[in-house]
Amino acid sequence: PSEPGSPYRVVLLGSSGVGKTAFASIFAGAADSMDSDDCELCGDEMCEKEIEVDGESAVLTLFDTWDAENDNEHYMQTGDAYLLLYSITDRTSFLRASELRITLRRFRPAQYTPIILVGNKCDLVRRREVSVSEGRACAAVFDCKFIETSAAMQHNVWEAFRGIVRQLRLRRDSK
Ligand code: GDP
Repeated sequence: PSEPGSPYRVVLLGSSGVGKTAFASIFAGAADSMDSDDCELCGDEMCEKEIEVDGESAVLTLFDTWDAENDNEHYMQTGDAYLLLYSITDRTSFLRASELRITLRRFRPAQYTPIILVGNKCDLVRRREVSVSEGRACAAVFDCKFIETSAAMQHNVWEAFRGIVRQLRLRRDSK
């Protein structure tokens, strides 16, 4: 069973415009307000929620790093796990995700921190600039999991959160 009172801190990282706010809105259950800038169910930067994964509940606190353009050292040190987002329609955001991965490694040299590389906006097929195989290859190099999502279509977003919980449990169980 998960330890009550000690939620997992999950941090959303990525360039501006890749869909972090949309992810946070879905997490908060406010998917309909994807276009609004603020998420009423969350604080400005965080939202806590209990979700069930594989028949076991887990409490996640989600941090949406609105200021990810500056290397935000605070977030690099706060997270138990990271969703590293880019947009498949924006190669620059993909390169930025690599940079953020390297920065993360600097802050987390020794310990194993679950990270999932997330290629968002996979609904925008005609505007794709980053192929699935490039995303997968990048994740392999960086030793993290990979998933493509569409926050707009609510495709694979919860799968990404569940993936994070599964990895956190693997780490917990191997201690
Ligand atoms: P943030 O800056 O990382 O928080 O990005 P936002 O969540 O604000 O998203 C930026 C823009 O992309 C908004 O207009 C969203 O509606 C849009 N967006 C986010 N995710 C998706 C997606 O999966 N597909 C599409 N088509 N648009 C998306």
